Amino acid sequence: MHFIDLAAQQKRIRRQLEERIKKVLDHGQYILGPEIRELEEKLAAFVNMPHALSVASGTDALLMPLMVENIGPGDAVFTSTFTFIATAEVIGLLGATAVFVDIDNETFNIDPLKLERAIAKTVTEGRLKPRGIIPVDLFGQPAEYRAIQAIAEKYGLFVLEDAAQSFGAEQNGKKAGSLARVAATSFFPAKPLGCYGDGGMIFTSKKDICDQLLSIRVHGQGVDKYTNVRLGINGRMDSLQAAVLLAKMEIFPEEIELRQEVAGRYNQLLAGTVKVPRVLQENVSAWAQYSVLHPRRDEIVKKLRENGIPTAVYYPIPLHLQEAFAGLGYSQGDFPVAEKIADEIFSLPMHPYLEPQTQEEIVAAIKGV
Ligand SMILES: *Cc1c(COP(=O)(O)O)cnc(C)c1O
Repeated sequence: MHFIDLAAQQKRIRRQLEERIKKVLDHGQYILGPEIRELEEKLAAFVNMPHALSVASGTDALLMPLMVENIGPGDAVFTSTFTFIATAEVIGLLGATAVFVDIDNETFNIDPLKLERAIAKTVTEGRLKPRGIIPVDLFGQPAEYRAIQAIAEKYGLFVLEDAAQSFGAEQNGKKAGSLARVAATSFFPAKPLGCYGDGGMIFTSKKDICDQLLSIRVHGQGVDKYTNVRLGINGRMDSLQAAVLLAKMEIFPEEIELRQEVAGRYNQLLAGTVKVPRVLQENVSAWAQYSVLHPRRDEIVKKLRENGIPTAVYYPIPLHLQEAFAGLGYSQGDFPVAEKIADEIFSLPMHPYLEPQTQEEIVAAIKGV
């Protein structure tokens, strides 16, 4: 049994993949080839944002917009403590301070009330300058952007959507990737839309931001590669990854539909056994993960492993308790919701090709404990 079945997906589109890859081998433009522009146009249209810029990874997609904002020492950027390290890592890499916020215990996303409290506290303390917020669409479900945008406007902060797990999701009919002025997504193979290596995309509604990102993507280039007007990075996606993504996009909308069916079936089968995920009425999740809660998590995970059923724990340690952020001075008990969920959460196999029979087998094994 697979946690994510990329082989089943590949079987469906093997011919398109081979054709797309062959084209790259034929034209030989491995960097910034025609597939790059084609993918950017296709995905900009898909999420309905004016500008899309492909990059080397989801991490670069988060880092580069912060570079546009000139984030640095003395700046505070607010984010969830319950996310993948990359979300907060990029803040620290630029010398700024990640200010963590606890999560909502139903959606696992940043709690807007606690977010505003953290910002107000930072303002009162006067040590750091509040600059921005990075909400994370955890497990595929968009964060609460209406409330978050209102807070951002009140305090004059930018919002950078971390849509690494939510590509394909929606909120009030708008696609993830378009829920803030700038959004970052990832095409790591295990994400809802994954390539065969590393890749990411930045979406923005602002042309001037897009222009600066274009420069940052190639070492801060000016009129050409050897005129450097700022410090940038090598943040390009390669043409082969774009070719893979173009082939996968042909079935992606259908896969998002299939994920809804798989999640719906889990919800039904698991009712009363574990706490199943709650998706807010305004949201459609991309179901990057199907994560459930149970106080006897470790016992269940062990039993499932013995039965050949793979699970994963996202995330066993909230970021405020990670050694990498020890310098920020947080301690156990600071974010009780995230800490409790970290102890009880586990994710079940989730992909568009999960058969009903397999899901029944998984649920039966959980009920056996
Ligand atoms: C995967 C992920 C990233 C980073 O993406 P990479 O492509 O692996 O660099 C950032 N944020 C979140 C929430 C993620 O899940």
